[in-house]
Amino acid sequence: MGNSNSHTLASAGAAPSNETMVRHALEQAGCRYTAQRAAVFDFLDQAKSHPTAEEVYQAVRQQLPKISLATVYKALEALVEARLAAKLTNGDGSARYDCRGDDHYHLRDVATGEIRDLPADFDPQLLTKIDPELVARLAATGFEVTGYRLEVLGHFLDSHES
Ligand SMILES: [Zn+2]
Repeated sequence: MGNSNSHTLASAGAAPSNETMVRHALEQAGCRYTAQRAAVFDFLDQAKSHPTAEEVYQAVRQQLPKISLATVYKALEALVEARLAAKLTNGDGSARYDCRGDDHYHLRDVATGEIRDLPADFDPQLLTKIDPELVARLAATGFEVTGYRLEVLGHFLDSHES
């Protein structure tokens, strides 16, 4: 998040600073730091696939065989609470998790629900480009704009999920 290095997600592996950062963020949010929560964060941090809770569970139990799906759900909720991860919900009630901290857009496969990052720069002025008056008009109706999300819908032709 705060690093000024290149924006790639290449820094794999548990950097020693991760633990301090995760512990601090969890405690700030009033959540306990646990080894399970750290393992869930580490997996999410290196995954590029925006996994579901079930997928996180399948991956993390390779290292922590005793972890339960319920613990993974609670860990994910704690990470969201601590703003270390975002929960991407869908109309059908399914959710995926993302711990990339900067604003970015998503591609969503409408058949499988799979989500990937859109390789494009985030434009903070996009709403103004849609309509220069939009933010002011919404404010006048009693809605304060704090941000926006964008998902591009379609099909991943290379996807093996189905
Ligand atoms: Zn993402």
